[in-house]
This record gives sequence, C-alpha cells and structure tokens, in this order.
Amino acid sequence: MTLADIQAAVGLRTPIRHQLFIDGRFVDALDGQTLATLNPHDNSVIAEVAMAGPADIDLAVRAAQRAFPAWSRLAAADRGRILLRLADLIEANAEELARLESLDTGHPLKDSLALDVPRTAACYRYFGGMADKFQGDVVPVEAGFLNYVTREPVGVVGQVVPWNFPLMFTSWKMAPALAAGNCVVMKPAEITPLSSLKIAELMREAGMPDGVVNIVPGLGSVAGQYIAEHPDIAKIAFTGSTATGRRIVQASAGNLKKVQLELGGKGANIVFDDANLTAAVNGSAWAIFHNQGQACIAGSRLMLHERIADEFLERFAALARSIRLGNPMDPQTEMGPLTSLQHRDRVLGYVDVAREQGGELLSGGRAPGGDLAAGCYVEPTIVRAHSHTDRIAQEEVFGPFVTVLTFKDDTEALQIANSTDYGLGSGLWTGQLKRAHQFARELHAGMVWINSYKRVNPGSPFGGVGQSGYGREMGFDAMREYTQAKSVWVNVDAQIAPWYPRA
Ligand code: NAD
Repeated sequence: MTLADIQAAVGLRTPIRHQLFIDGRFVDALDGQTLATLNPHDNSVIAEVAMAGPADIDLAVRAAQRAFPAWSRLAAADRGRILLRLADLIEANAEELARLESLDTGHPLKDSLALDVPRTAACYRYFGGMADKFQGDVVPVEAGFLNYVTREPVGVVGQVVPWNFPLMFTSWKMAPALAAGNCVVMKPAEITPLSSLKIAELMREAGMPDGVVNIVPGLGSVAGQYIAEHPDIAKIAFTGSTATGRRIVQASAGNLKKVQLELGGKGANIVFDDANLTAAVNGSAWAIFHNQGQACIAGSRLMLHERIADEFLERFAALARSIRLGNPMDPQTEMGPLTSLQHRDRVLGYVDVAREQGGELLSGGRAPGGDLAAGCYVEPTIVRAHSHTDRIAQEEVFGPFVTVLTFKDDTEALQIANSTDYGLGSGLWTGQLKRAHQFARELHAGMVWINSYKRVNPGSPFGGVGQSGYGREMGFDAMREYTQAKSVWVNVDAQIAPWYPRA
C-alpha cells in the first residue's frame, strides 16, 4: 500500500507529516535517516518518519535560542492568543487528529474523538487563557523598600514524551511552557510521532513564530539522551519510565538543568465493602482497561475488601470479557491493540510471571487470534496475586492486566496500598466520608480519586511522589515549573546607615 492508500483507507484528508519541524519548516534529518512508523492493528508501515540525530537537535536548539528573546518579551496575552487559536484549530481538525492518533497508537477512534482530542484542545485553551493571569508578587518587606517578584521563563526547554498518549502529552508539556514564554524542543516517542507533527502544522497556522516550537522525532537513546545532555537547554520535562527518568537526571547534571519527571505508577484502586458496587465495577474497568491499560495512572492493583471480593470479581470479569476488542478505526471498538509488538510480548510475559509466583488467572491472559492475530492485541486480563509483594503487584505492567489483592480492614488496605515504591494515582470506593478523607490524606500518591478514577483536568495538578517522579503538570503548578522567580529590591525611601562610620 502506498501512503496515499493508507490515508484513504483510514479517512485522512491531508498528507501524513513525516519530516522534522525545525525553525518553522518541515525538513528531513541532516543524515537522511528515517524510522518506520507502524499501525499496531496489523503492524503494516504507515509512514517513514525522519529521525533526528544530534546535529538536527543542535539546529532545533539554535532556532529556539534565536526565537526566545522576542517570544519571551511578547505580551503574555499575545502568546495566549496564539494558543487559543491553536485550540480552535485542533477542534476544527478533530476528526483528522483523532484518526491519526488512532492509526498510530491503537487508541479506539471513539476514545480519540471523545477524549484525546477534546482534552488536547482544552489544555491549549486553558494555558492560552492562563498566559496573562499568571502573575508575580509583592512581598511585604522592611520599611522603605519595595520587593517585587516576577516569574521569568526558563529559556529553551527540552521535552520528551512517551507513546501512550502522544497528542495529549505534548499539549500538557508544550502549552504551559509556551504560555510562560519558553521555547520548546519536543521529542515524541519514536513509535508515535504523527500527531505531534500534525500539531506543528497547526501551530504554524495559528501564527506561532518560527523557532518557538521544534518537533524532533528520534530515538530515545540518541535524540532523547542528547536533549537531556544539551548544554544550551535550560530545563528538561520528561514523561516515561522510571528507569529512563534516572538516566535523564544523570545526563542533565552537566549544565544543572531544571528537571521535571512524570514517571511510572502502580495505582491502588481500593473497593471497600460499603461501596456502590455497580459504580465501582464500572469505574475499575475504566481504571485499567481504558487505552488498553497503557496509562501511568491506571488502577492496576485492584484491592477488594474480602467480604465483597467474590461478587465484585464475578461482575468485573463478566464486564472484562464483554469488552469489544478490535480495529481502533471501527467506531464500535472499545479496546484496541497495544502500541507495539514488543510491548505486547512484555505484557504477556507478566502472565507467566504471575503463574510462577502462584497467581491465579481469572480472565484473559492471551493474545487473541483470528483477524487480530497480526496486531498487538492482548485480552483484558485479571490475575489474583498470591501476595502484595509479588512482582505483578509491585512492577508496572502497563497493559490491560490487573492484579487483584484482598484486604480485611482499613489498616491492611492502607498498608498494601502504600507498599510499592511508586506514588502516582490511587482511588477508593466507599460510602464513608470520614474514611474517604482519611485515605486521601494517608495514601502515598500525587493524586487520589474518591468514588471515581483517573479524572484529569488542565486546572488540576498532575504528578507523583517517590519513584513516580517530581514536579507537576497542569494548573498554576505547571506555570511555576516553567518559570523562575526573580526578586527585585527597590529602595523607595529607606535611609541607608553607613556601614563604616567614617563614610
Ligand atoms: P520510556 O522511558 O522508554 O520512553 C519515554 C520517552 O523517553 C520516549 O520518547 C523515548 O524515546 C525517550 N527516551 C528513551 N531513552 C531515553 C534516554 N536515555 N534519554 C532521553 N530520552 C529517552 O517509556 P515508554 O516505555 O515509552 O513509556 C511508558 C512509561 O511512561 C511507563 O513507565 C509509564 O508509566 C510512563 N508514563 C508516565 C506518565 C506520568 O505522567 N507519570 C504518563 C504516561 C506514561
């Protein structure tokens, strides 16, 4: 199939962008290298995308440096206006963006349309509106002095995102960085670069000045590593695995970059015996099976009070078995493929790990055959762990794989919930207000959902504690992350006593 055939087959109207975006132009990599992007539904090649190497990153950094003085001094409202226009353009191109995202990642089209694209537009709109509302302070200092604090952009910011929500995650990173006056060198994951290149095109249409945004797909170990090391990049914001996060911290030491890390998770989703079971069953399925479980905040440890465990599991397993697995482009599909074959095999490997440690497979656990055999599919999988210390209860699987644990009382529930090194998102289902707030306080997590799971909003801080990283995306916190305070002292009418009396 030619590129045009693929586009026609999935209903894309404009050509797939497959070049780097540097200094406002789409260009090939200097050494001509490309990387094939695959459709996870059948592993066919969708596009050959230019792959940035260090020399291309250097060009992108220089373009960003050139653009920075004018962009950072532009009136904040004018920066905001460009982001607001971008949000409108994303909505105007919603269908196209959703199809591209589904083609590249395997997200069911109905999710890309209902969630990824609207959330991306909402993020640019939120930070577009925020640009001229994020203000400094005046500090009440000693008499005769005025002390004011401005928030200055950091400079050229490197951003590296993973493949699970490429469209949304590029907005979470670029929108606050740009609103605050920074210039960006963004590296999408090597296997899912397409939607961010489309955003580059829309940025240009929205009036983004050349060089302010540069999008450089490339290998993590080459382009990502080089961004982390680059002496002229002032900050790196990273979303990805904890192991890569550690590498980034080490690489950033050369010029003491500001570092922001959104890493892995092993979310505890706790169902108490007084919970509304219907809501909890539905919410728990959403918590783990949405996006095939490829979410850092997935509710991947399903913790059930022992009194309700059997009834809950019966209903939960029935729901899991009823989920419609299929081609993401089919509007009826509820769960698509994982994003790569390599990742599918890794996820299936955890079924063996579970068996070796005495886990009980309650549902799923296989790659489906038939029409889906050539794709990266995994059935919704439910495994009861032998102990909360087992690998399947401690390690991030990042797939449609949920580990079931039971507890007898609140004390044990909290102890199990807090027994991993991660601390990203956790949820609980209960009818007791007091217990809900006590758990919200005690859970080792950056985000807690009560009688709900996996809610996100551009205004609400997103990030983790412990091995889940540091720093926050979204809201005012994100603006603080992308700025530095400058304290200015003015002697208004203070008498300066001479330090040396003879003066
Ligand atoms: P990954 O760490 O392998 O890759 C993420 C990104 O980092 C990719 O763009 C990759 O090219 C790049 N990269 C790889 N090696 C690099 C290096 N040495 N230097 C710089 N960049 C490098 O992660 P992944 O497997 O693509 O993504 C899944 C992981 O991301 C999971 O652990 C998941 O929990 C995490 N995640 C976290 C959040 C969050 O907000 N906390 C959100 C989504 C995903």
